[in-house]
Parts: sequence; structure tokens; C-alpha cells
Amino acid sequence: MNALAATNRNFRLASRLLGLDSKLEKSLLIPFREIKVECTIPKDDGTLATYVGFRIQHDNARGPMKGGIRYHPEVEPDEVNALAQLMTWKTAVAAIPYGGAKGGIGCNPRDLSKSELERLTRVFTQKIHDLIGIHTDVPAPDMGTNAQTMAWILDEYSKFHGHSPAVVTGKPIDLGGSLGREAATGRGVVYATEALLAEYGKSIKGMTFVIQGFGNVGSWASRLIHEKGGKVIAVSDITGALKNPNGIDIPELLKHKEATGSLKSFNGGDSMDPNELLVHECDVLIPCALGGVLNRENAADVKAKFIIEAANHPTDPEADEILSKKGVIILPDIYANAGGVTVSYFEWVQNIQGFMWDEEKVNQELKKYMTKAFHNIKNMCQSHDCNLRMGAFTLGVNRVARATILRGWEA
Ligand code: GLU
Repeated sequence: MNALAATNRNFRLASRLLGLDSKLEKSLLIPFREIKVECTIPKDDGTLATYVGFRIQHDNARGPMKGGIRYHPEVEPDEVNALAQLMTWKTAVAAIPYGGAKGGIGCNPRDLSKSELERLTRVFTQKIHDLIGIHTDVPAPDMGTNAQTMAWILDEYSKFHGHSPAVVTGKPIDLGGSLGREAATGRGVVYATEALLAEYGKSIKGMTFVIQGFGNVGSWASRLIHEKGGKVIAVSDITGALKNPNGIDIPELLKHKEATGSLKSFNGGDSMDPNELLVHECDVLIPCALGGVLNRENAADVKAKFIIEAANHPTDPEADEILSKKGVIILPDIYANAGGVTVSYFEWVQNIQGFMWDEEKVNQELKKYMTKAFHNIKNMCQSHDCNLRMGAFTLGVNRVARATILRGWEA
């Protein structure tokens, strides 16, 4: 099942549990606006290259639309649509006053030089600048983009609209970024994991973790889990995978990756088959990379007791069913990875107030939001007798439905 079909399915299941009117259901499902633009840039060798850029604005009933911009070869309309819709439910679950959007450019950022990436980002911004804005749609980083990408968008946008730091979040600190934003998604994953484990009388200390993906989210989650006494026994990224049953020394691995750009040839672990990683024996599995990695091919072999979805839609519906029959507890993406967009909200608030918070305040507030959302989800699980994914979906969908109805919806 592709990402959009899977996301629509989860939405419909939640909508049925909530007893939503079918007309309202249709209106909530269809995106507010879909933008597709041609982005042609001169490459460094003087030839021209054309890429396709997207921004899908899914819903704005609860506030300005919000979500990342992804540079990846797999960026295509259905995937971006699914991710935009997930942002609508995610911001609602986190109880931050936003709707949902997502964007991206179909490209491999590893094949582009820094100046090519800058030109591509500026052309994309020129094409969408009239459709984004501080109170309309606020982009942020996602896979393949970072604070520098946001700086280019901010600079290009400001040429048309004047200095507007709050038009993007995840900016460099020097341009109005928030302290703690870089680590926020990974930190949020850890707060979410703590909230879940506490339900079972457990804590991170002494538990074993497998982390798929060692980019921004996976590396921050690993570092914080390691600091809290958790044992990260296997990690992977696109350069390879490695394991150490006694726990990998994460600070050393981070230094190694910084120096070499790869997980390969790290002497604090043995290399392993990246496909084996997801079915490796552990207490907690945290997929932090692409969608659909847990599917009918591997779900039956998963040995983890808990799965924390740091990636967006890592578990397809077939895997969801197999895993729940096995009794695996899954903490869903629209809650587990909401720390990034939550600190994006703090960044936007700081920009609008013209006041900067210290990092301690950012992390404290993040913990408050993540813990509260977890308890709100648990309440939905109780009132609808459902699992955590449906608890999160019913929570998010219900908040958006309520806002839509209050604005004047008549069935
Ligand atoms: N790209 C992140 C996400 O998928 C963050 C979005 C944001 O901060 O707006 O949640």
C-alpha cells in the first residue's frame, strides 16, 4: 500500500471511531491546495537541469499550515500528500496552533554542490513565495534539508516581502532560529519513549535499543538515550550498519561519523546486514529514516517489544496488523516525532515576540507538550478502546474536526 493510501486508511478508521459525518470526512481528507512547480537551474558546469518542486497544503482549520521541505529522489505527489496530511494530525496531537503542509523537490541532494542547492532553493522559493507566509504556511527542514536551506528560503522570501524571520523555522540561530531546535525531534522521541515506558513501569536505563537511521533524528535520539543509560546495540545509515551487544559508545561513533562521514570502519562494533537490523533482538526499535520500512516482508520477524516511530509512516498497515497480533507496542509517528514541529512552534513564537528563550526553557516546554500529548492519546485509547495509533489519530482528527465545525461547517 502506498503512503497516501495507508494514511487515508488510518484517517478513515479514526473518522469511523469518532462517528464523523461523511461530508466532513471528505472535506478533511482533500488537501486545501496542491502546488507543483518547475525549478530549472544552471548547474556548476553551465548546463541546465530541471527539477519538480511541490508544496501540498493540507489543512488550515487550526492555524497556519506547517511542515518540512524534503529534498529526496523519492519525492512525488502521493508521498508529499501523505506527509502533509500527517502534519495536520501531528500538529493537532501536539496541541500547537497549526494546520499541516509538506513540500519537497525530487532530487538527490548528495549529487548537488552547495551552490547548486542554493540556486535550486532560491528558484523554488521564487515559485512559491506568494503562497507561503508567517500566518499562511511556514516551512521547516526535513530529510535532505537543514538550517542552511531555511536561511536561503528566508533570504529569498524577504526580497519579496521584507524581513520575515517567522516565515520558516529550523533556521540558523544567527537568523532567529531557536536554541534546541536542531535536537528537538530526537529529544521529543526520547521524551515520548520515556512517557510510554513509564506506563509499563520501565525506563530507558538498562533497556536495549536498535536505531535505524543516523541522521539528525537518529543521532540525537541515540545520544540522549546513551546519556540516560540506555544501551544502543545496533545502528544503521545509508553507509552501513553496525552492532555491539554491550552497547555502542555513541559519543565516539558521533566523532567517527563527523570525521569520516560514514559508520564504516568504526572499531567499537561489528558491521552487520542493514536488513537484519530491523529484526535484531532488542527491547525498543526506533526507525528514524524513510517510510514503509516495516512491511509484510519483515514484520513477523521483528523481535522488539516496543517500536517508536521517529520516521514518518515507517510501518505500513499490513505490518501494523502483524505486529499488533504479536503484541508489539507501537508509538505512532504523528506523536513520536512531533518534537521537531513543537520546537518549530516555539521558534515562531519567539520570532513573533522578538524575544529569545534559553535552551532549558525550550527543552522544559517540549517535555511538557510531549507528556501532555501522551496522556491525551491514552485517554482517547480508553474512550475508543483502541491502540496508540488510533488513539493519536482520533485525538488529532477530532481536534481538526472541531475547529472545522466551529468555523461554520454545516452537514
Ligand atoms: N519536518 C518535520 C516533521 O516532519 C518538522 C516540521 C516543522 O518543524 O514544521 O515534523
